[in-house]
Amino acid sequence: MMMQLPYIPTDVPFTGEQKAWLAGFLAGLGTRSVIPAGSAAPAQVGAAPSADAEAGGPVGLQILYGTQTGNAEWVADTAKTQAGAHGFDPQVSDMADMDVTTLAAVRRLLVIVSTYGEGDMPDDAEDFWQALAAPDAPRLDGLYYGVLALGDSIYDGFCQSGKNIDARLAELGATRVIDRVDCDVDFQKSADEWLAGALAALTAIETGGARATDDESGTETVEPPAAQVVVDTPDTPPAPEAAAAPAPVRAKGAKSPWGRKNPYPAKIVANTVLSGPTSDKEVRHLVISLGDSGIDYQPGDGISITPVNDPALVEKILTRLGATGDEMISDRKSQYTLRDALTHRFEIATPSKYLVDYIASRTEDPELTHLSATGDHEALDAWLWGRDVLDLLNVDPAVTITPEELIAELRPLAHRVYSISSSPLAHAGTVHITMATVRYRSGDRMRGGVCSTYLADRRTEGDTVPVFIQPNKSFRPPADDVAAIMIGPGTGIAPFRSFLHERQARGAQGENWLFFGDQHRDADFIYADEITGFAADGILNRLDLAFSRDQDHKIYVQDRMREKGADLFAWLQDGAHVYVCGDATRMARDVDDALHQIVAEHGSLDDEAAQDYINRLKKDKRYLRDVY
Ligand code: NAP
Repeated sequence: MMMQLPYIPTDVPFTGEQKAWLAGFLAGLGTRSVIPAGSAAPAQVGAAPSADAEAGGPVGLQILYGTQTGNAEWVADTAKTQAGAHGFDPQVSDMADMDVTTLAAVRRLLVIVSTYGEGDMPDDAEDFWQALAAPDAPRLDGLYYGVLALGDSIYDGFCQSGKNIDARLAELGATRVIDRVDCDVDFQKSADEWLAGALAALTAIETGGARATDDESGTETVEPPAAQVVVDTPDTPPAPEAAAAPAPVRAKGAKSPWGRKNPYPAKIVANTVLSGPTSDKEVRHLVISLGDSGIDYQPGDGISITPVNDPALVEKILTRLGATGDEMISDRKSQYTLRDALTHRFEIATPSKYLVDYIASRTEDPELTHLSATGDHEALDAWLWGRDVLDLLNVDPAVTITPEELIAELRPLAHRVYSISSSPLAHAGTVHITMATVRYRSGDRMRGGVCSTYLADRRTEGDTVPVFIQPNKSFRPPADDVAAIMIGPGTGIAPFRSFLHERQARGAQGENWLFFGDQHRDADFIYADEITGFAADGILNRLDLAFSRDQDHKIYVQDRMREKGADLFAWLQDGAHVYVCGDATRMARDVDDALHQIVAEHGSLDDEAAQDYINRLKKDKRYLRDVY
């Protein structure tokens, strides 16, 4: 009997939390529903796959990731550890290293892929996706698979890469053993649940339980359940007090006990403004001590910081609710006060789409009702820009909303990742970050970035912040004898400051070329002394600066690249790696266009051949971008 997985319509009268719970419940059902009635109890995670499946040996499992910032790779590594513990013989591969034709020989596959920008494949997944989507892609009838999609629901094209790969694998005849899960930024809990379900489902294949059998025809039919969005349930992060608990005792040489699930309360040892007084921006340099945490990192990695919401905004929301803040909120795991919830546990600066729907349903506001009903993402994003939870509550100040009603519609407070700008060799025991403080006026109030204003305005030397390292193995300096071309305007300089210090400390012989820029040399040439020092010392072999507003027309880093196109192409021909960091939406696209033009012009290539050249660079991991 075919069992169709229920799909949760967006307009069901449930709160965000109820929908999330239900989605999780159904995802679990989906996992179990493929076990035919009458078979033994569903395979449990933890049970080793049946030994007779593959002549007694451990069962092979291919784990494939596509990543832009390292998250998908991190999840893939976790999946490998867990799969190994459950009796599989897992192999983890970057999509960049996977030849699609070899997939036909794979029996079990877990795909973990992020989406970058407005629905694009991550760079390392592009070729793989082209080959998979091509008409001559191989049939994959013997393949059992699951897809975990990572993304950010703020963007259109949320989790699009995962959706595309999931749909295409099914089209090619592969069997989906677990529904795709589309994870939002706070992906940990959904990823854990998906992984547990995926391993159980793959285990069940070997026990003969993973296929739904059509009783009438006797033929095997495969359920293709609609993929669901599982919104992260509020996985309440530890309040800072909890993070300040005594450090776990660590045996000498042992792995650090601190990590994503247990952030380290790191002390801030410096917090200074880098930009000049006449700058339009406030760019800060923070030095964070790793103390005796045992945490280590590498150039290219990021650091995650869990912020605390602005207490002034918390007060305003409490006033609007007519609450004191002492009201108790309970979820499935714990109880906490409303003030704690709004301060430490939920996003109050960026309203969830659930909250928009909820407010629309409770008010008569025609614009909001229209936006909610049409599901027009672009219009909704435009409307939401510069609006926070208080703005939504004030759409109709006469409507009474209880604390529970509000909390049920909020997203959990996510950590923020900053590219590390220090080198573990040159700045031992510390992590530096280079951060632009986001401040702007909207309506009658000043607004700010949640984490950047928390760090700029409410954290000073001696204070602690909960941190963990976000590794990015795909964004590392090249081998010591290989040249690096680094393009990082604004705070995009961060990882390249790390690379340059690291390469200097290592005595790396490979040449270095930096393209940097910002608005004005006087006010915005951050780390000017260090950068000019690197140039004087011969660490930086070439330095090209683009100060966009120091003349009557804009000059950007890509203009400098074009001016030096012949040399840049020569460096590429000699094996240089190209790195880009900073703004994804405009800068990284324009830099990419410039790179295509330079390759076409100086390599005398037509558009298609230039595209192939760039694709080759990506495939060889010589064109790497850390952009958002
Ligand atoms: P920014 O806004 O990127 O400005 C830096 C310089 O880039 C300015 O001179 C600006 O000129 C110029 N610029 C504007 N449009 C451009 C374009 N299309 N092409 C090339 N240059 C362009 O600097 P920021 O304030 O430091 O912001 C940096 C951005 O990078 C932020 O969005 C940040 O979130 C992101 N970032 C990402 C990472 C990462 O992904 N790991 C790390 C660090 C920073 P005008 O203003 O004069 O037009």
